[in-house]
Amino acid sequence: MSRPWDELPPREALAALAADFHRRGWMAGTAGNLSARSGAGRFWITASGCPKGCLDPGRDFLEVDLDGRPLDTPPGVRPSAETAIHAALYRRFPEASACLHVHSLAAARVSHDLPPEAVELPLPPLEILKGLGVWEAAPRVALPLFANHLEVARIARAVARRFAVEAPAVPALLIRGHGVTVWGESLQQAHDRLECVEFLLAYLDGAGSGTP
Ligand SMILES: [Zn+2]
Repeated sequence: MSRPWDELPPREALAALAADFHRRGWMAGTAGNLSARSGAGRFWITASGCPKGCLDPGRDFLEVDLDGRPLDTPPGVRPSAETAIHAALYRRFPEASACLHVHSLAAARVSHDLPPEAVELPLPPLEILKGLGVWEAAPRVALPLFANHLEVARIARAVARRFAVEAPAVPALLIRGHGVTVWGESLQQAHDRLECVEFLLAYLDGAGSGTP
């Protein structure tokens, strides 16, 4: 069944989603990046340094290949370094057609507060896990956690290495002190999954602060 976010042309949908996420505080300033497959071996992604509350679908996107290389670079448009993470996920998960990366306060705070040796964030066994494909009576699943690096290519390589041998229990990953990335088979599914992950992170953030 066709759903609203997949009925729009990809760049228009991504710009509208970014404005929505910006209003929710998940994409402050120019933070975060959103992408959607545009064909075999290529995807559209938000360009670097563009304010996420007011993206221009015609100007603020780049089309890149699955190595993250721009297929065309309009003047003044730069690819985001974080494109490498999107590319790694599209290569690893052929069924993924959209990938959403945001810098929410809950994601930054919950991941920052984890012990230094942690490699995952256990998720609470809440009903909303069904939105991430987890249908168990007492689920014990975790979000994969990655170290943050100034050189984003290091994060992308770590994601590729880990997921090559171990598929995550949920279609999402967390970068410490940074943000969350979610993917889906459609833009609508990725959007819905991101809302579920952010719900879980807000729950954990509230639990940690003593305000459930
Ligand atoms: Zn980021």
